Parts: sequence; C-alpha cells; structure tokens
Amino acid sequence: MQKVRLGKTELEVSKNGFGALPIQRISKKEAVYLLQKAFYHGINYFDTARAYSDSEEKLGAAFSYTRDKLIISTKTAAQTAEEFWKDLDESLLKLQTDYIDIYQFHNPAFCPKPGDETGLYDAALKAKEQGKIRHIGITNHRLAVAEEAIASGLYETMQFPFSYLAAEADIRVVELCKEADMGFIAMKGLSGGLIHNSAAAFAFMAQPQYAHVAPIWGIQKEKELDEFLSYEVCPPVLAKELQAEIDGDRKELSGDFCRGCGYCMPCPAGIEINNCARMSLMLRRAPQEAWLSPEWQAKMQKIDGCMHCNKCKKKCPYGLDTPALLAKNYEDYKTFL
Ligand code: SF4
Ligand code: SF4
Repeated sequence: MQKVRLGKTELEVSKNGFGALPIQRISKKEAVYLLQKAFYHGINYFDTARAYSDSEEKLGAAFSYTRDKLIISTKTAAQTAEEFWKDLDESLLKLQTDYIDIYQFHNPAFCPKPGDETGLYDAALKAKEQGKIRHIGITNHRLAVAEEAIASGLYETMQFPFSYLAAEADIRVVELCKEADMGFIAMKGLSGGLIHNSAAAFAFMAQPQYAHVAPIWGIQKEKELDEFLSYEVCPPVLAKELQAEIDGDRKELSGDFCRGCGYCMPCPAGIEINNCARMSLMLRRAPQEAWLSPEWQAKMQKIDGCMHCNKCKKKCPYGLDTPALLAKNYEDYKTFL
C-alpha cells in the first residue's frame, strides 16, 4: 500500500486513512469487523475523536492486540488544561492503549500556544514528556487559525478540509504545510458528501504535488471500504474521463455554493449554517432520506429565526451572501418536502 510521510513526525501512514467518525452509527460488532478488515488489507492509520461518541471504544475493541502495528490519532475539544487531562485519560482508556500517536486540538477557535491562559499547549507538552502522546497536532476549519498554527512552528500535523473542490486559499494551506514539513491530514475529501466519484477524489489526492497529503475517508459501510481498498490494487489515473468529472463538479459547484467549512459559525440564532446553506445540493447529490428527517426539518426551520445580523456573511471566506443563501435553500427545501 502506498505510504505518506507525515512531515516531521516521520510517521508513515497508508495513503488511504480511515476516518472513524461514521462508525458511531453502526454496531460494535460491525465496526470491529470493518476496522479489522481495513487493517488486514493494509490501512495502518485511523483517526477518531473524543467527541465521536463510542468511536474510540470501537477502535480499542478492534485493535487492543495489534496496537503497535498501527497509527492512531484522536482529538480533544478541551478548553482548559483540566479538561485536557480528563479527555486524554478517557481516550487512552477507551482506545485500550497507553499512548496516542497524534493528539490533536479539535477545531479550536484560536491557536493554543505555550504560556497562554488556557494552559492547553503546556498540558500537551507535558503529556508528550510523559509518553502519553507522541506528536501534537491541530485540526481546523478556519483558514486564519490554520495559518497561525503553521506559522507558529508548534504543531507537527494539521488536519484541514481538502478535496478537488478546494479553493485557492485551502490549497495554500496544503502548500504551507509542505514547506513547514508538517504532516497534512485531509478531512472531507468527498466534501461532506457532495463528491460522488471516490475514484476521482482518490486520483486527485494521488497527484505528485500532494504526495505529502494523507486523506482520511469517513467509512461506515463495507462497500465504501472495498472501494478505497480497490484503488490500492488498481489506482485510478487522473486521465480524461476522471478529469472531466472533476471539471464538471467544479463548474456545477461554483458561484454561490457553500463549501460547508463552518468558518461563519456560530450563529446566534443556532442555525447549522454549514449544512443548511447547502441543503439544495445535499438533497440532489446525496441520499435524501436523512436530510428530510424530522430532526433536519426542525434544523431548517431555524432559518425563520435568522436575525439578519450578517455576522456569518462577514466571516464567509468565499464572499457568500449567507443569509440570502439560507433563505433560498429553505424555500427549496419546503418545496422538496
Ligand atoms: S445573519 Fe442569520 S444566519 Fe447569519 S449569523 Fe446572523 S442570525 Fe445567523
Ligand atoms: S456560508 Fe461560507 S463560511 Fe459558512 S459554511 Fe458556507 S462556505 Fe463556509
């Protein structure tokens, strides 16, 4: 299996990484089977988070006997040093291990630094000294925080959204990580469900300029796993057909299309902007049932409560008129229902 060197960590991970968020939605038995199948077919990198309910526990159940043969990253959304230690102890327990290869700050709104008032980075350094974590990483959806983290030189890995729909500014983050010799872990390689052609997504990531990029694919079903494993045996090439697919998606998903990045959040009216502002696309490009559930109907209804404060609009890096986009998506949603 093709390997990726994760920057200065010197860890060698499989080009196909396993994103373990979706295994929350399947039983423990199914999850253990899926994880072990992935491992025995060459996937050696698994990414989870304290916030993904029982995902860590399922990884622990699958790999307690093979722990030293694989690389695990998890995340903490702690806001204080006290929460950090609590999360770390819990993750070690659930994962049935005494160390975590990459411990990441989970999408913080700021870049934790030594000596800051939260004490988060100092706690991570101490945990590293104690051998509980091997490398310190950060995940983010915000361009400014990502750039600050890279410039700080404090982090060994960056996890950031990246797919063939990435904007120039996102591609710049990938390049900056390469220059800084930081591992780049790509989340949302299928753009949160908007990209359907996984072969095109894989071929895009496999290009030589992205040799340092380690995508983690969110996997819930065996057929999804089989798809990615098949690309190791028969790697899809970015030839005419797949390139046309990418060009078509880029064309269709341009203009006032919401990337789902979440830079504009939180919203004071509690609107889940990163999904609600692209609902029309999700309904047409992803299985519809889940988006039409009573839970999602209630989330969409919150758009009625938009106060037009324009906070989101000011923060959107793509220059979108977010409140207008939300209204448009809500109208379409009601018609669709
Ligand atoms: S304009 Fe509406 S959607 Fe945007 S932040 Fe304000 S309340 Fe939320
Ligand atoms: S509206 Fe803009 S900032 Fe908000 S999720 Fe969509 S693309 Fe990102």
